[in-house]
Amino acid sequence: MSHPVPRRGETPIVVAIDGTSASGKSTNARLVAAALGFVYVDTGAMYRTLAWYCLRRGVDLDDRKAVIGCCRKWKTSLECVDRQVRLLVDRYHPAREIRTAETSAATPKVAAIPQVRAWMKTKQRECLQFGNLVMEGRDIGSNVFPETDYKFYLDASLQERTRRRTAEGVQEDLAARDRRDSLRAAAPLMIPLGARVINNSNLTPEETSGRIIAEIRARLPARPGADTAAP
Ligand code: C5P
Repeated sequence: MSHPVPRRGETPIVVAIDGTSASGKSTNARLVAAALGFVYVDTGAMYRTLAWYCLRRGVDLDDRKAVIGCCRKWKTSLECVDRQVRLLVDRYHPAREIRTAETSAATPKVAAIPQVRAWMKTKQRECLQFGNLVMEGRDIGSNVFPETDYKFYLDASLQERTRRRTAEGVQEDLAARDRRDSLRAAAPLMIPLGARVINNSNLTPEETSGRIIAEIRARLPARPGADTAAP
């Protein structure tokens, strides 16, 4: 059953996919969104964009006031291209710049600031304007959309996650990043209440996303007149 666009008056459906770094959130969220015809939202990219913006301006990331100042003043906009949401700064989409090891290491610092998280939560909820969503992050099921019935939490062994990052050509200390994300006071990384936990150390993305898609399809409310063919 596909639910590509909510009908007038219908509340969009949000699928929340949270999990540790390199647990396959992006790959699986994209596969799930494509299968269901939903819009994909990478909230990590939003936090990365702020970290990149601060680094580029020479802002000390340990200076919380300065980071909050950037977050209050930067000129951003949301756009949806090919069913993927992007956060633009000064109309620019820093797709590659936000993936460097320097930005990855810097991002948990800005993400630990409560005022930054409040700003991000507002932006992330604004994504409902684009329709049904598959949103991935660290606090989507616990904090951004706690009301959703569709919560998933992905994890894999540290060894497997490190192998995946290395295969992508990125060397980083994933355990340190997870520690920072889990220990922060503001909306820490956690298994949201009611989330289905999937450890995918030994699963392919097709197997992981297949489980998620099957579970969502089984629970989606029937829609009279909707296209019932599975895409
Ligand atoms: O998912 P990704 O690795 O791109 O996330 C980068 C960083 O952004 C995370 O390590 C975390 O510090 C932060 N983040 C967050 N909450 C989210 C998404 C990402 O704190 N919902």
